[in-house]
Amino acid sequence: MQTNFSLAQLADPHVAESEKILRKCVHCGFCTATCPTYVTLGNELDSPRGRIYLIKDMLENGRPADKEIVTHIDRCLSCLACMTTCPSGVNYMHLVDHARAHIEETYTRPLLDRLTRAMLAFVLPYPKRFRAALKLAKLGKPFIGLFEKLPALKPLGAMLKLAPGSIPTASPMASPGIHAGQGTKRARVAILTGCAQSVLDPAINETTIALLTRLGVEVVVPQGEACCGALVHHMGREEAALASAKQNVDAWTRAIDQGGLDAIVITASGCGTTIKDYGFMLRLDPAYADKAARVSSLAKDITEYLSSLDLPEPVRKPGTVVAYHSACSMQHGQKITRQPKELLAKAGFVVREPREGHLCCGSAGTYNILQPEISAKLRDRKVKNIEATGAEIVATGNIGCITQIASAAKLPVVHTIKLLDWAYGGPKPDGVSEGRLVAVE
Ligand code: SF4
Ligand code: SF4
Repeated sequence: MQTNFSLAQLADPHVAESEKILRKCVHCGFCTATCPTYVTLGNELDSPRGRIYLIKDMLENGRPADKEIVTHIDRCLSCLACMTTCPSGVNYMHLVDHARAHIEETYTRPLLDRLTRAMLAFVLPYPKRFRAALKLAKLGKPFIGLFEKLPALKPLGAMLKLAPGSIPTASPMASPGIHAGQGTKRARVAILTGCAQSVLDPAINETTIALLTRLGVEVVVPQGEACCGALVHHMGREEAALASAKQNVDAWTRAIDQGGLDAIVITASGCGTTIKDYGFMLRLDPAYADKAARVSSLAKDITEYLSSLDLPEPVRKPGTVVAYHSACSMQHGQKITRQPKELLAKAGFVVREPREGHLCCGSAGTYNILQPEISAKLRDRKVKNIEATGAEIVATGNIGCITQIASAAKLPVVHTIKLLDWAYGGPKPDGVSEGRLVAVE
């Protein structure tokens, strides 16, 4: 695509980066076919190509964002299906991240929208605040119907609907410390404790630590970790996202200095995509660029890391049929497609893949709160495809997808690691009845 930026504009490294991305796009439109919002809404401006044109126009003319561009960029899930499809290697992720930061800087949203976003940014990345908010949400549940009738309060209704009925107690394993591996030590890794996941399902990281230590891997929970920054990054709040990134880079750099790390293990693929991008996000900061690049190169999804180990034979071989839902951040953001399915199959599960596996379930960070209508359509489509597999359980590797799919599916939805841990000698996953997990020894 031809671009028309002035030399003065290109002196801004963010604009220069976006210009490079824009020039790669050849307008072929292949990406439209796999874009969930185009498939759902049928509007070119809600397709990757349409959004690319809108962003190009805004940046080239150096003008503030307007209502039209905000509407169509807000509807983008950042699912990155377009990047998987694009034959020209257009880095839509970096382009839309830049557009979101520009919107945040130059556009004044309506008051309620601003308040909702400020509240999400204040609460979600902080486990203590999130836990308190979930307790408060219980009081608001009787008013969901009322909130859903008022357009400006729909996000509040969506938030209350997603809030779980009971909140698990906080895990002691999330506290900083070292969990020694059993037997001969084969590796040393750090684990991201995370924010929302550590409140909604602390057993995911507990299970991960239990499985890794049984396999002889020492697991460090470093002092000073923060939220990965993805939630605020996708809202265009660059300063907050970079502050989180730096805090984590510092925490993991200390862990590297104090004994080395073979990997930084991440159990939420949404966080993994962002941490693997820290090297890019902090490239312009001389104090952090190298350290961030090192952290990004060590970041591994738990299934990616387990695949690199020589796993023993499973303790039990369940014959359970599992529908594997590949989170967008897993398959499009990190290009991890094979490993989770292979691990499940090796552990004795019968893996089925739902139709339209490339389409987002509508969770996408805070998307199911901020865009509840499109999100619900995508969720229902996903659940229908999952249920058509005839599976007994759904496995996936991202807490956002687990919450979203579980809000409409009749099947239990669990993190992939819980099924693997069960097959390799751990306890039966919570929330899954005995009848659904039949071990064929
Ligand atoms: S990130 Fe997803 S929703 Fe956004 S343009 Fe690309 S395919 Fe469409
Ligand atoms: S597939 Fe790639 S090159 Fe083609 S229109 Fe989409 S982003 Fe541009």
